[in-house]
Amino acid sequence: MKQTLNIGMAGAGLSCAVIARLLAEAGHRVQLFDRRSHVAGNCHTERDGETGVMVHTYGPHIFHTDDDEVWDFVNRYQRFMPYVNRVKATTGGRVYSLPINLHTINQFFGRTFNPAEARAFIEAQADTSITAPQSFEEQALRFIGRPLYEAFFRGYTRKQWEVDPARLPAAILKRLPVRFNYDDNYFAHKHQGMPEHGYTAMVERILDHPGIAVTLNAELSPSAVGDYDHVFWSGPMDGFFGYDQGRLRYRTLDFQKFSGQGDLQGCAVMNYTDEAVPYTRITEHKHFSPWEQHAGSVCYREFSRACGPDDIPYYPVHLTEGDDLVRAYQARAQAQPNVTFVGRLGTYRYMDMDVTIREALNAARAFLARRQA
Ligand code: UDP
Repeated sequence: MKQTLNIGMAGAGLSCAVIARLLAEAGHRVQLFDRRSHVAGNCHTERDGETGVMVHTYGPHIFHTDDDEVWDFVNRYQRFMPYVNRVKATTGGRVYSLPINLHTINQFFGRTFNPAEARAFIEAQADTSITAPQSFEEQALRFIGRPLYEAFFRGYTRKQWEVDPARLPAAILKRLPVRFNYDDNYFAHKHQGMPEHGYTAMVERILDHPGIAVTLNAELSPSAVGDYDHVFWSGPMDGFFGYDQGRLRYRTLDFQKFSGQGDLQGCAVMNYTDEAVPYTRITEHKHFSPWEQHAGSVCYREFSRACGPDDIPYYPVHLTEGDDLVRAYQARAQAQPNVTFVGRLGTYRYMDMDVTIREALNAARAFLARRQA
């Protein structure tokens, strides 16, 4: 007879929720703990008490993916409403379209280029001596040239990461497309949408299975690993080891809320790319649910800073030169016999929601396959 395993999980974000679901459906018992008072981790959403607007409590989360199975998976637990992320940027006292597209180029340079002309113009500004860009700055100088880099990326990136863009990996900039047409969709993926009742409702449904017990406001202690047949850990990787070699670098975010009536900024996300403006962006949450009607509106001004021991970690900080501390913790994590480290904090990587779910599906299946072998 197949053995029922007792599985412990740290963190009720997307990673552990997805793994818990698959393991529970396979007949195992899952005990999941989260130190916060809600599930869904940093994609948590809740209605604002004053206006009724669905707020992305820990900053904007837009679901986008090319992965059909991941899209089908999330749609099983929540209806996804059509949503296209169209971001604007304020720089030098003017508003532009993002990501960099033909409109941005024509607005910024005061021209009326067609796609081929714009491509040739930008190529002439690009530093073609950079053949294999390693850093964020090299990637920018190679593909968009200095004027656009300085207007849209340098200041924002220095605020967001507090590191010179020459020391940040090119992968961060590669998240954003550059287009020579008027397509201003921030993402180039096949599927994009917003969960009708928010991410927290979606995660609650994923976790709604008789084999899953969720305990909030409580932590799974690394010393309790032995109480389970296996543990999935989506908390900070260095936290599992009691930070005994020091703390990994994360960025945390602060949100300054303001509210009012009607439409306060006219779009969901406005980036402020000048370094002199202390915040990185303002999010007006009602625009994330365009199918809802609300008289009031809630906005968050977003500030990025180094994450202290009592702050919520958001972004792992990877540098081009690599980091011995990251490598050391990663090696120890991989060597843990009965623990699988998952997710953005557990693996210390900058992951989007769809990648998180893909990796969670894979991790759960690999675990089940090992047990059957
Ligand atoms: N970025 C920038 N200017 C912008 C938007 C993004 O310099 O107007 C850079 C910045 O370094 C940021 C990265 O591109 O961290 C990735 O941007 P994305 O919008 O994907 O960030 P997220 O929403 O994940 O914070």
